[in-house]
Amino acid sequence: MIERITKEQIAEQGEYTAKIRLAVSAAASVRGRPMKFCVVTYGCQQNEADSERIAGMLSSMGYEKTADESDADVIIVNTCAVREHAEKRALSVTGQYKHLKEKNPDLLIGVCGCMVSQEHRLDDIKHRYPYVDLAFGTSYLWRLPEIIYGRMTRKKRLFMLDAESDGNIAEDVPVMRECGYRAWLSIMYGCNNFCTYCVVPHVRGRERSRLKEDIINEAKLLIADGVKDITLLGQNVNSYGRGLYDNYGFAELLEELNALDGDFTVRFMTSHPKDATKKLIDTMARCEKVPPQLHLPLQSGSDEVLARMNRKYTFESYKNLVDYAREKIPGLTLTSDMIVGFPGESEEDFEKTLSALSLIRYDMVYSFIYSPRKNTPAASYPDQIPEEVKHERFERMLQLQNGIGYEINRQYVGRTVRVLCDGPSKNDPDTLSGRTDGGKNVCFTGVCPAGGYADVRITDARVLCGFIAGGAPPLKTPPDPLLPPPSTL
Ligand code: SAH
Ligand code: SF4
Repeated sequence: MIERITKEQIAEQGEYTAKIRLAVSAAASVRGRPMKFCVVTYGCQQNEADSERIAGMLSSMGYEKTADESDADVIIVNTCAVREHAEKRALSVTGQYKHLKEKNPDLLIGVCGCMVSQEHRLDDIKHRYPYVDLAFGTSYLWRLPEIIYGRMTRKKRLFMLDAESDGNIAEDVPVMRECGYRAWLSIMYGCNNFCTYCVVPHVRGRERSRLKEDIINEAKLLIADGVKDITLLGQNVNSYGRGLYDNYGFAELLEELNALDGDFTVRFMTSHPKDATKKLIDTMARCEKVPPQLHLPLQSGSDEVLARMNRKYTFESYKNLVDYAREKIPGLTLTSDMIVGFPGESEEDFEKTLSALSLIRYDMVYSFIYSPRKNTPAASYPDQIPEEVKHERFERMLQLQNGIGYEINRQYVGRTVRVLCDGPSKNDPDTLSGRTDGGKNVCFTGVCPAGGYADVRITDARVLCGFIAGGAPPLKTPPDPLLPPPSTL
């Protein structure tokens, strides 16, 4: 049973928040400075969206935000479990907070999210990180005020393992957004697909959709707040509404959002190819506020591997859909996720993946080395691929895709594209960075505020670089990598 958290339950959390606020205010007077929080986030966009809610709740408790852990009175690490590397990073960073706790014994340290939704990791934190005050799985997020209040009053460490349930949906949790003009909008949570390599269904529970009214109201508020770029989030947005509505699905939701008044775009991720339909493509083509961008993870070009991954589509059906999308949506930016070194992946299988990349020609690919995940079927498949073979294949894939991405980008040189500006580039403060409607990263020179649109004339294809049309050409090419870094998973 999916639990819809009631207004009364949320109001109860508000009562804990109010009590904490008094304590925080008293502590700030004693110390003669504001009390601060820092949220450290690993993983996907859903985690980023969750962290904005954690920040919203902490801010309602009276804490001020800081990006510096050593300046914080509360640190929350929001973790990822998709690959071992992400878990190791979160554990290592948590380990570094030991010395902060030694300096400030009142520091409150919490670890939450997908990693600690696994019992063995929750136990790890409990026994090997005695300075961590609280740890809680993804289903407890909305109860953060109660958890913090519990720690403050009972002086006991708290470890909350997600109960065996289908998961919950909590509306009206306070939110503090990272950015004023780009926003995440979760339309659903969890996943029912059980790809054999993936831990997500185990740590985020069953697939469940928010009510369409709640989504549309949130979108309206975002648009009224000046948000220009909304990204709808779900592990498989194509199954939005399943089990909730009979004749209303993702295409209908997209259409309704597209019809809202305002100057904004609405994009989405992720689409599972088994459920992405021609109807979805037609809707995208028709909706002028839906940009020409599609993230459609293929994972492997070999049908045998796809079957063992439990992906439920073939390369041919996938390719047919891509051909249809390209025909209907001119200038489509197409991206994918790929896994190399899945158990039993032969050299021949891997070459099929390389051929798939050459045939489809993605704008960008997020490639991942297969990482065995506890309690997933693929972790106990025979024929695990040796690390050195995985790495060698990963490099070959990167080489090929870098060349393809560069060739695609070259077609942009000389063209003027609309870019939503994100302000000065992290790599070179003398240039600005932003993204096209299709979601491509662009570096450019000229004057444009963060959150403003600029028409940029592209002059360089390594990363798309250019200058605001009508302004001065750039003095130099920024030293960014050929392609944006893979997702932070
Ligand atoms: N729901 C999304 C993906 C979520 S996880 C979808 O189905 O497309 C994001 C990506 O991480 C996946 O697409 C996959 O490429 C990668 N991934 C997931 N589990 C992995 C594992 N065990 N090892 C390596 N990569 C993995
Ligand atoms: Fe994981 Fe597959 Fe669900 Fe994506 S669709 S979250 S890869 S199980």
